Amino acid sequence: MKLRLRKCPKCGRYTLKEKCPVCGTETVSAHPPRFSPEDKWGEYRRRAKLELGLV
Ligand SMILES: [Zn+2]
Repeated sequence: MKLRLRKCPKCGRYTLKEKCPVCGTETVSAHPPRFSPEDKWGEYRRRAKLELGLV
């Protein structure tokens, strides 16, 4: 499952859109640094899913 997570630098909201649905700020990639372990990614995804209401 490929999820291109993005994050609003202003309000910190996770989204899949290029612009924050809340404040309209351009979002940035939420991909963690390369050295992060896989479980870190898992947490990112879990949090994002929660915030996106996908769970
Ligand atoms: Zn925002």
